[in-house]
Amino acid sequence: MLNYDMIIDNIRDLFNEPKEFIPLHVPHFSGNEKKYVNECIDSTFVSSVGKFVDQFELAIAKYTGAKRCVVCVNGTNAIHLALIASGVDAGDEVLTQPLTFIATVNAISYAQATPVFVDVDKDTMGMSPTSLRKFLEEETIIKEGNCYSKTTGSKISACLPMHTFGHAVRIDEIKTICEEFHIILIEDAAEAIGSVYKGKHLGTYGLLGTFSFNGNKTITTGGGGAIITDDEELADKLKHLSTQAKVPHKWKYEHDQIGYNYRMPNINAALGLAQIENLDYILKQKRKLAKSYKQFFTSLEIDFFVERENELSNYWLNAVILENKEQQQIFLTKLNDAGVMCRPIWELMTEMVMFKDCQKTNLDNARWLSDRVVNIPSSVVI
Ligand SMILES: *Cc1c(COP(=O)(O)O)cnc(C)c1O
Repeated sequence: MLNYDMIIDNIRDLFNEPKEFIPLHVPHFSGNEKKYVNECIDSTFVSSVGKFVDQFELAIAKYTGAKRCVVCVNGTNAIHLALIASGVDAGDEVLTQPLTFIATVNAISYAQATPVFVDVDKDTMGMSPTSLRKFLEEETIIKEGNCYSKTTGSKISACLPMHTFGHAVRIDEIKTICEEFHIILIEDAAEAIGSVYKGKHLGTYGLLGTFSFNGNKTITTGGGGAIITDDEELADKLKHLSTQAKVPHKWKYEHDQIGYNYRMPNINAALGLAQIENLDYILKQKRKLAKSYKQFFTSLEIDFFVERENELSNYWLNAVILENKEQQQIFLTKLNDAGVMCRPIWELMTEMVMFKDCQKTNLDNARWLSDRVVNIPSSVVI
């Protein structure tokens, strides 16, 4: 039996909150947020046109080292846009992981493609390159430079791994495999803004990488998302698709394909610009908290999810890995009852009615983690 009182007291101490409710993750606003939002309101340009959108896009590109960035209204439609812009067609299949937030898989569905679920590694909680290679070698054939499923005959056009809680998947290995099998690589880096693996920002390994700026993420625009890429042409296409595919003209309404109203409003970008100015500080505080957690849980012989070698994680959500499902459920009950907010990792996507019949590899690791992982409070502590 774990000493739950001690765990609760320790978390309360870390947040300097002996009595209050401790949320899982709240935004941190200590910079130019109010100044920029006020400036935006004063300008009346609160909607789809304005300087903050351009400035925020430039700031994200600069921070991550990507050539281009296109911001949009949330992280889910960022993935949708990334898929369709990179050439995923209706009827295609997209490789992804079963252990992720529903948005990853919903976005594949919006593109009228079908997800194929590949198991994860226990130490990254993200797509396993070993599982991916095994699936591709056994279940697919290459014809005229494209990869096809032997079972369904459909084209497997993209691979969409996700960086769980801000920790890197083995993205370099996955990239090599995707190149070998002629599959486009898109990173769902929704949780991983600011995380660096082997000296490169997550989101910059794939042809495209996507972020989320929802209120619970490391930095927020209220709601928002972004796509980064080094491909200029693709970036122009993303911008075009996100603005109703309108052909630029002084007054004429001409649209050359079915587009989307996915632009990020200027007022959200104003918030985002202030947030990214503060990202280094936010990451420093988050990594400090993770270090304290690591020390504490190690002393209790509880497994705490840490970054691997060659990695600087943003530690978006801290996570413990418990003994079994029973302990996971007790942990959740005890801490939530004591006002220390905790959440289990996701149910597998293959458990959802919409995706239960999709093709999948053996999912032992994903199941193992789904039964054991719990997220604990992870906001910035000052
Ligand atoms: C947050 C998140 C998204 C995008 O979410 P939005 O709420 O649409 O911004 C996508 N994938 C993962 C894994 C996420 O955690």
